[in-house]
Amino acid sequence: MLTKRPRGTNDFLPEDTCKWQYVENLLREICHEFGYEEIRTPIFEETELFLRGVGDTTDIVQKEMYTFEDAGGRSVTLRPENTASAVRAYVENKMAYRSQPTKLFYIGPMFRYERPQAGRFRQFHQFGVECFGAASPAADAEIITLAWEFYHRLGLQNLELNLNSVGCPECRPAYRKALQDFLRPNLDKLCDSCRERFDKNPLRILDCKNPECQQYLVGAPTTLDALCDDCREHFNAVNKYLDAVGIPYKINERLVRGLDYYTNTAFEILLSDIGAQSAVCGGGRYNRLVEEIGGKSTPGVGFALGMERVFNALASQGIELPAGRKVDVFVAALDAEAGEESFRLTTELRRQGLAAAQDVMGRSLKAQFKYADKFAAAYTLIVGGDELARGAVQLRDMAAGEQQEVAIADVVSLICAKFHK
Ligand code: ATP
Ligand code: MG
Repeated sequence: MLTKRPRGTNDFLPEDTCKWQYVENLLREICHEFGYEEIRTPIFEETELFLRGVGDTTDIVQKEMYTFEDAGGRSVTLRPENTASAVRAYVENKMAYRSQPTKLFYIGPMFRYERPQAGRFRQFHQFGVECFGAASPAADAEIITLAWEFYHRLGLQNLELNLNSVGCPECRPAYRKALQDFLRPNLDKLCDSCRERFDKNPLRILDCKNPECQQYLVGAPTTLDALCDDCREHFNAVNKYLDAVGIPYKINERLVRGLDYYTNTAFEILLSDIGAQSAVCGGGRYNRLVEEIGGKSTPGVGFALGMERVFNALASQGIELPAGRKVDVFVAALDAEAGEESFRLTTELRRQGLAAAQDVMGRSLKAQFKYADKFAAAYTLIVGGDELARGAVQLRDMAAGEQQEVAIADVVSLICAKFHK
């Protein structure tokens, strides 16, 4: 029996990967424009990194990690996200000693043991950026602009940017207490996970999706009401930068990141028409994370966006990406004797940077032409027969339907000239 791919994973076939490459190229281009450089970290890390970097009270760490012991008895984990690894790499490679800020992006597979459903997989792909060393609100606004620009250039509609601030170690303890005081009288009526969060992670109760819990949150104090002067100023400045570049946002006081190392900005981009899995991008500021991972105190801000959800959204909005790259020339061998010369010419065209296709199945000329149809090449070269005997080939311009005899010595440069190579 055939072994199937693991649940919650995907095979991406050539008709898919050409779309992925298009989107990845767009992301790389935008990162270049915004001054973000790529970092590649290991697919697996010591488990300890994620316990600290993602947080041991999160769903990711509590339920979703692919953790195993390797043959040397070390506990390792397939990365469920890339921020912790990026921070580790920043610290381990002493990147703080380079000119600051350090602006990095990553793109690659992440692993979470989740219940697979539309837009939710066990191996999925994230693109994300991290900016280390800049505490200014301009850095927050810059990464939000980068994400927005990406979705906008793809032509996606109905994007909604939600924005909030979760304060800092100055103002959050008082807020946390105010929220606990507000919720305490109804604590026994909250859902199991909210009751669990009440002591360790009460801010997360704000974004509980349970309608019962929502009901007990009506009138709850907001993080924005509790911001200290510095945090308020930071939040206002982020708003003003976004206003300056015409990016609309909605202030959502329920949007939170529960962990202590998150500070100030929290944001999320939603796509209202892709159903339940509508969050396409999440990010924020984490001024205390680098320290948590063992570096010196360094501000940071970043986001991650789900690639599969981009493709879902493109499909549901009927947006077609440009097709894959075309073949320039098909080289047909008239008969077996012409095989070597047509192979040589095909290779020569490729060496000149053209996409050249040839038959490698020993097919008849008729079958070769049938095979050639699939490539829709601009030119066909027919090698063999009397022409070959006199050192020539037939060159056919497929669009014009014209055919001419060309000396073998000239044909490659003639074709190259047509493609400006
Ligand atoms: P969700 O609420 O959908 O579980 P999350 O809060 O776990 O999202 P993050 O950890 O912030 O998401 O990851 C950022 C983005 O990665 C999400 O907005 C989403 O687009 C994508 N993402 C997260 N988990 C998955 C998954 N299992 N499959 C596909 N995409 C995912
Ligand atoms: Mg999740």
